[in-house]
Amino acid sequence: MFEKPIYTTRPLLPDKSAMLELFSEVYDSKWLTNMGKQHQLLEQELCEHLEIDNISLINNGTLALIIALKALNLPANSEVITTPFTFAATPHSIVWAGLKPVFADIDDSMTLCPKAIEAAITPTTRAILAVHVYGFPCDVEAIDKIAKKYDLKVIYDAAHAFSTRIYGQPITDSGDITMLSFHATKLFNSIEGGALVCKSVNLQDKIYELRNFGIQKISSNKAKEGIKAGDFVNEIGINGKMNEFQAVWGRLTLRQVAEEQVLRGKIAQIYKEAFSDIPTIFIPKMPAHVTNSRQYFPVFIKGSRDEVYNILLQHNIVCRKYFYPLCSDFGCYAQLPSSAKDNLSNAHELANQVLCLPFYSEILLDESVYKICKIIRGALGENG
Ligand SMILES: *Cc1c(COP(=O)(O)O)cnc(C)c1O
Repeated sequence: MFEKPIYTTRPLLPDKSAMLELFSEVYDSKWLTNMGKQHQLLEQELCEHLEIDNISLINNGTLALIIALKALNLPANSEVITTPFTFAATPHSIVWAGLKPVFADIDDSMTLCPKAIEAAITPTTRAILAVHVYGFPCDVEAIDKIAKKYDLKVIYDAAHAFSTRIYGQPITDSGDITMLSFHATKLFNSIEGGALVCKSVNLQDKIYELRNFGIQKISSNKAKEGIKAGDFVNEIGINGKMNEFQAVWGRLTLRQVAEEQVLRGKIAQIYKEAFSDIPTIFIPKMPAHVTNSRQYFPVFIKGSRDEVYNILLQHNIVCRKYFYPLCSDFGCYAQLPSSAKDNLSNAHELANQVLCLPFYSEILLDESVYKICKIIRGALGENG
């Protein structure tokens, strides 16, 4: 049994003295929020890191999703097709944006099944909110085709897919808008935080305004005409701004992300080797053309997932059953027709088997990963 609990993940922490130095700079500047210097630097540094042209920081990923949906200007109560195999924030954001979630089943990729999406389309469907769950990309080509055919907007929840690339291209290239989460539990964190990435300049401007109460963004042309920011509020925006202290935190942890991914890659290798001879545990394989974000290490255990989970708990290893129960089984969604169990059979099967194992560099550096492997093997009924 471990003395201190082992969790599924632990946050990256910045170097303390570098953090205090930058905190002190922000303190002295008296500019604490409202797209300040640190905010601008973090946006720039994220663009460089992700090799993208534009990013809009938001104060958390959930609000980023809501703002993304709002930016698309869909008619009230439009249906948005989404996956039940995700965190609560995904369907919640649809409802907070005044729209209706419709659940469709996933396939072996753990992400939305294109056929199930197409079958769920009705005359009031206007968008698809798909999730690159655990960093496994959705079938972005098939979803793109469906979106074109039925004139639907596409938003990707890439909370787990920080820096993921498909055939070398940033995953944020797909769809109309992609959301990133920088919550403390995510690979890259700014304590709380998130962002939206999109190519359309119109959408970028709209997002800029929506996160700042709807105050109109003043282009240099308008400025020449003497129009000042704050003169016009044409939209019901919200306060989605990230403050300067969190931007500092993000700037510093960003520098550690690549190394953390390498170390987590080594942990993944150790897990794979440790369980390679056990038929009851299945480890999903990232396709060769995709870079792995290393957000989570999900495994699927047939039949005895809860038993294994409980044995690990007795050893003070606190794993997470992400994503069990399914969002469609939450009290607030269970009554939806699309939440019917036979509509979501693959999602139910995976949710009943999934377990996210401890996955952060500390367990490699202190070598506890080997003990964790041994305990998991024991829990699966294997000796030695
Ligand atoms: C974490 C997460 C979110 C929400 O992000 P926050 O920054 O915590 O608001 C949304 N979707 C998924 C799949 C997540 O894991």
